[in-house]
Amino acid sequence: MSNEGIVVIGAGPAGAATALGLARLGEPVVLVGEPRRFAAVEGVSSRVIEALRSLGFERALDAFAPPSPRRANWNGVHAEANSESLVDRQCFDRAMLVDLERLGVQVVRGRVTAVHAEQGRYRIGVDAADRRLALAADFVVEARGRAAPAGGRPRLRGVETVSLLQYWRGPETSPGSTVQSCEDGWMWMAALADGRRYLQLTLDVATAGLPAKKALGDYCRARFEAVDAAAAFMADAAPVGEPHARTSTAVLGGEVAGDDWLRVGDAAMAVDPLSGNGIFQALSSALQAPAVVATLRHDPEHGGLARRFHQQRIEHLFHRFARIGRDFYAQESRWSDAPFWAARRSWPDAAPVHAAVTPETVGIDSRPVVKDGRIVERTVVVTPEQPLGVWHLDGVELAPALCALRAAGAGVSPEAVLEARLGLAAPRASQIVGWMKGQGWI
Ligand code: FAD
Repeated sequence: MSNEGIVVIGAGPAGAATALGLARLGEPVVLVGEPRRFAAVEGVSSRVIEALRSLGFERALDAFAPPSPRRANWNGVHAEANSESLVDRQCFDRAMLVDLERLGVQVVRGRVTAVHAEQGRYRIGVDAADRRLALAADFVVEARGRAAPAGGRPRLRGVETVSLLQYWRGPETSPGSTVQSCEDGWMWMAALADGRRYLQLTLDVATAGLPAKKALGDYCRARFEAVDAAAAFMADAAPVGEPHARTSTAVLGGEVAGDDWLRVGDAAMAVDPLSGNGIFQALSSALQAPAVVATLRHDPEHGGLARRFHQQRIEHLFHRFARIGRDFYAQESRWSDAPFWAARRSWPDAAPVHAAVTPETVGIDSRPVVKDGRIVERTVVVTPEQPLGVWHLDGVELAPALCALRAAGAGVSPEAVLEARLGLAAPRASQIVGWMKGQGWI
């Protein structure tokens, strides 16, 4: 089998969304992947469900349990602030492959064993179920998640962290999850309706002092039995098989785009699972990737712009999630000097998650944006909160609108300015003005 177009390697949410986007742009794309090899349950917010729905991943949506309460025992306080939808990741990954095929994307189910680059061409070795294949490509999208081979030195690496996942089985129950802090880390416990339980313990690699592999099962069990909130998950239940250890260190990749390759999802940036946003960030990084790939392949004169666009977005997203995680760690004040908490409450930096925006801090500049499936440069509004710029709101370009308001000065109705200068209808002008005020721009 041969393909002289794009090969996407990895069939998690990032690879699947990128492959679908490329196919919808009319690009010749093949996705090569296999579902995750280990069992895991993960939780997502409603915005992930919405994103999957809007992409058309119908079978994958069926893999999610209905939203259930996300309980938190943090800093000695019990909260049921929000809900999440739990999903068996192997079912989800399998369903995404089915969705991709249904949506017309060419899929090769198999494991990539080698990627060779020579003279502007890639040769990709694949172990499929009953055969070995060699695919040829002129562009590769790396979406193997944390399993992706390192692409040079990472730009940033968080405190080394490991998560031990112990599988339990008990009676049928209503699905739900609880996050629980403890002196040397935190736990996340989830129950599925069919009785499966996923008890996960996240610790600092340097200070955890873990026992030998064969004793990990007893170790995990003892740790969960010592916690009141775990009782509901362990009642009439018993461990199944051996625990699975996953690295959960936050990692921001070094270069995430080249002339003929791109990294998306966890292969580009993997966030701390405490944020509970991994699948969301994987989808976010993948939604704009097709335009970046199309620009790199067809508009080489805009290649630098496209690479910069992808790199900046990945770094921006990573820092946002890293700071959200940092602030959540800092909320736990009972053990702030314990090594696990002390190392995480100030990483990656002291910058606030949200930067203050006042009219004086708002500027106008050029930035790369997505237009008609390509990356182009446009004049946008740049703020400390949106350093990558905001181009338009529902089709109304914001830089000309802001310029018009500034030129008109104070004492004039901003709505009237937008109506007169931009020809906007009154409700539209009022919507734009209200939005700008809400953002602190005017
Ligand atoms: P992945 O989902 O990892 O997908 C990579 C795909 O590539 C897999 O299907 C894999 O089988 C495939 N692959 C790997 N190697 C090869 C190969 N050689 N050939 C072919 N295919 C290959 N996120 C949440 O949103 N909610 C959570 O509750 C949550 N909990 C987490 C708990 C832990 C302990 C960890 C470490 C992460 C957690 N995450 C969670 C993060 C989430 O798993 C990832 O961020 C997300 O899945 C990234 O998507 P991806 O597509 O980039 O990579």
